[in-house]
Amino acid sequence: MRSKIVAGNWKMNKNLMETEALLSELSAKLPDTDAEVMVAPTFVNLGVAVRHLESSVIEVIAQNMHFAPSGAFTGEISGDMLMSIGVDTVIVGHSERRAYFGETDEILSKKVAAALEKNMRVLFCFGEELEERKSGNHFKVVEEQLKKALFTLDSKSWNQIVLAYEPVWAIGTGETASPEQAQEMHAFIRNTITQAYDSGIANKVSILYGGSVKPNNAKEIFSKPDVDGGLIGGAALVADDFAAIIKAI
Ligand code: PEP
Repeated sequence: MRSKIVAGNWKMNKNLMETEALLSELSAKLPDTDAEVMVAPTFVNLGVAVRHLESSVIEVIAQNMHFAPSGAFTGEISGDMLMSIGVDTVIVGHSERRAYFGETDEILSKKVAAALEKNMRVLFCFGEELEERKSGNHFKVVEEQLKKALFTLDSKSWNQIVLAYEPVWAIGTGETASPEQAQEMHAFIRNTITQAYDSGIANKVSILYGGSVKPNNAKEIFSKPDVDGGLIGGAALVADDFAAIIKAI
């Protein structure tokens, strides 16, 4: 059976004190669940978060990493550094990294390879922009993104991949894909993986939906058969909302 996962992407939010406060509140409000729960604070607070959640089921993950193992890359963080503080899952390919930091499919493919090389788990984000959906190209775009960054992987590596379909037009906009749109795309993604690999891999990979998931729409989205959870932005910054979304799964 595939893992159910709810992951909170905190982006560039919460200073040290706010991070500790949110983690404490979230720990206190965490509902009983068989889903994996993850939070991705900023780099500077990852170590603190790991220590804070030492005896918790909540996993601390990173928002990004560089593909080089070390070297002259001022301001960057390597997979080895993350692993050394107990962070073994990393988000790769978030649309904000693609849009604001020039991360191309080629760069992302290197990041995926570097993370897998370190035996890390990759939460890989992808999704179409509004114009691409309006012009009916969304399936093609998503297929290309998957192909370029992931379809050179060997079958075994897929055990370490989690996918997050995030239509760019739904991220931080308050506009969510309908549960039917999410299901349609998730089924397409699974089918695309079946074509490239086999149904065993396609049926085993968790595919999360991301894009304005809130307590009032989470249950309906999560009820779709090919939606295995969510990558949550804004609502992950409010303990009550994130707890409600976890409860919804
Ligand atoms: C995200 O940043 O991955 C995201 C889904 O954000 P939001 O939930 O705020 O749309």
